[in-house]
Amino acid sequence: MCNRLRTTIPRARNRRVCDWCGQTIEAAERYVCATYLDEGGWRNTSMHPECDEDMCIVAAEEGGCIVLARDNERPVVREALEEKGLLP
Ligand SMILES: [Zn+2]
Repeated sequence: MCNRLRTTIPRARNRRVCDWCGQTIEAAERYVCATYLDEGGWRNTSMHPECDEDMCIVAAEEGGCIVLARDNERPVVREALEEKGLLP
């Protein structure tokens, strides 16, 4: 996961699996579709927007390159917690 070339935020036409947390991205849900170029060639990833944010933070900490194993924890969406009054 090195050079990020392109990022789009489409609505999923079909169910997909998030490359960060391994959970489902439901049809019609928005997700981050990113295209990368690394030693192995082109690669597209699909992630929940909050997972993409976490992945970018971890990748920066790791020096730019990480291996995706779909076993990371899905971050709690801050806005959803704020709406429910669960954040101070
Ligand atoms: Zn996810």
